[in-house]
Amino acid sequence: MASLDEHLEAALAKVEQAGRRRVLRPATLAPRGRIVRGGKTLLDFSSNDYLGLATHPLLTERAREWAARHGSGSGASRLVTGTSPDVLALEARIAAFKGTEAALVFASGWQANAAALPALLAMLPGAAVFCDRLNHASMHAGLASAGTRQHRFRHNDLAHLEELLATRGAEAPARVIVTESVFSMDGDLVDLPRLAALARAHDAVLYLDEAHATGVLGPRGAGLSATVPGGVDVIMGTFSKALGGFGAYIAGSRALIDWLVNAASGFVFSTALPPAVLGAIDAALDLVPGMSAERAHLSTLADRLRAGLDRLGLDHGGSASQIVPAVIGGEGETLALAAALEERDFLAAAIRPPTVPPGTSRLRLALRAAHSPDDIDALLEAIAACR
Ligand code: PMP
Repeated sequence: MASLDEHLEAALAKVEQAGRRRVLRPATLAPRGRIVRGGKTLLDFSSNDYLGLATHPLLTERAREWAARHGSGSGASRLVTGTSPDVLALEARIAAFKGTEAALVFASGWQANAAALPALLAMLPGAAVFCDRLNHASMHAGLASAGTRQHRFRHNDLAHLEELLATRGAEAPARVIVTESVFSMDGDLVDLPRLAALARAHDAVLYLDEAHATGVLGPRGAGLSATVPGGVDVIMGTFSKALGGFGAYIAGSRALIDWLVNAASGFVFSTALPPAVLGAIDAALDLVPGMSAERAHLSTLADRLRAGLDRLGLDHGGSASQIVPAVIGGEGETLALAAALEERDFLAAAIRPPTVPPGTSRLRLALRAAHSPDDIDALLEAIAACR
């Protein structure tokens, strides 16, 4: 009988043979759009710290203050011992920021999607669920654990969604549409006014992941959901990207949040977020609404990057945000380009299958407000030289 480690080595060897073995490399986020990795300071186009808040002194100071006041851990899940008044106040702030009745904090974006979707579907037995093909893995995980079959529509193809709603949704007792406002690997946006109208016309619940929109898009950085009259039924977002911290939220009606408190297992059975993390979120909420100059700067940088990629003949898909893919195609070619860029002190991580469809391996370029136009030009020059 082979030991567990022998099984594991054999499984890893298969991944290695397929050229897909991943390894963890030590790296530390640095200010000014940099990252320290392999002993070198690299110009970083791969982190999701869009607004530069992950190293902002107000966040680190508030995290320290809250930890000094309340300790390093929260002790239990919120339903068991009761909940900190600080987290209730924070949730009220998140709801006000998002323009919803209520909000609930989760331990991570992954956990929010993996916990909220099954909770929602437990209340809508037999619902037909419609998902964008490129939805994040955490939504697939949530739907898989709910045991729900997904009707997947072509990426951002709302005509296809409409067709599926009519053919697969009409007989179902309920319909749920699950999608993102900014797609994490493509940087394109959903047409939210049209999607919301479609949801209304087909009496469907709309579940929107705003992980990459929160802090960056919409009025005061409140995300795209804030631009839709009447709002979106269920909004998920993270504090781990533009908000420079960790954790996530679901925002919506009071009834939705009360239901999640009762039925979302990833909330019910998980320890409350620790004070330092909550403190950093609180400080980010002080700053984000006023960061419109940073948001405008990101948008200008993204235009500059896309124009430069056009000049190099590189496809950036439908990018319309701070995430700009440079689609290369083959896995080997993309990995080689990322490695050559790292030699020149740029971090531009290669993203390949299964994260993106085969043949569309890419450099996923994520802009940070600390980048300058010169940084973009230097990256473009380096890409040109390495190819
Ligand atoms: N949703 C989307 C669209 C994401 O890109 C991510 C992060 N990669 C998540 C959810 C998960 O968020 P977190 O990293 O906070 O767990």
